Amino acid sequence: MAKGAGKARKKLPKELAVVYADNCTGCEACIEVCPVDCIYKIPGEDLPPLQSFVDIDLERCIGCALCERWCPWDAIEMVPTARVHEAVAIKGGPPSYLEKNHERLVQTARQLAELYSEQQMPKA
Ligand code: SF4
Ligand code: SF4
Repeated sequence: MAKGAGKARKKLPKELAVVYADNCTGCEACIEVCPVDCIYKIPGEDLPPLQSFVDIDLERCIGCALCERWCPWDAIEMVPTARVHEAVAIKGGPPSYLEKNHERLVQTARQLAELYSEQQMPKA
């Protein structure tokens, strides 16, 4: 497995949070409630024609679902960790953001999904 993903913790939660960027207004309600501060705002000045939005550091998300519950715009969905890369691949966002980050985000999500699946296997 590639280094990095999942290293920070022992056991992955069964669900992780994904932000669908097109629904996100950047209101920051989710940032306020996240107990591990793993939601971050994408700086608006990088993307002048667009409203700001947030993204999630999936390697630190503990799957508590508080952000999903508090988002006023239904922009966050809890998705099964084993398939989180599929959701990340289609979560959208401004083209300039996706150009820079899409591959890295999907790769990290895939590594977490693989690690989660490994953790579900019974030990020999
Ligand atoms: S599920 Fe919990 S830990 Fe994960 S991003 Fe949302 S509030 Fe933070
Ligand atoms: S609460 Fe919802 S709309 Fe507000 S910043 Fe978070 S994901 Fe975006």
